Amino acid sequence: MWCLEPFTIALIPGRSKMVSKSYQVIARKWRPQQFEEVVGQKTITRTLQNAIRLGRIAHAYLFTGTRGVGKTSTARILAKALNCAAAKDGEPCNVCEICRAISKGEDIDVVEIVVQDAKRGPVG
Ligand SMILES: [Zn+2]
Repeated sequence: MWCLEPFTIALIPGRSKMVSKSYQVIARKWRPQQFEEVVGQKTITRTLQNAIRLGRIAHAYLFTGTRGVGKTSTARILAKALNCAAAKDGEPCNVCEICRAISKGEDIDVVEIVVQDAKRGPVG
């Protein structure tokens, strides 16, 4: 499936403290790669998968919540599922060039914007 229109996913973290390096390493290593693997967000992931299956994608999605609830992971999976040429049942293949590039943060069409908290620095 191809998304031809501009598409925005905004991540708005909760009022969390700065993310420690050890947390970042763990998050990178254990980050879910498919909607099925996201823990505790079944309603959200099912809704997104259904939207992809039906081709009814909104122009923007806003993910909010505290640190560690899956905002970034879900956004990356959504970006992969929308751009993956071999997506199946709304899930990305995670094997193709596009999926791998998005997973590594190297795809030029997917831009992650880190929200800056004026008092606490980068969050999320
Ligand atoms: Zn793919």
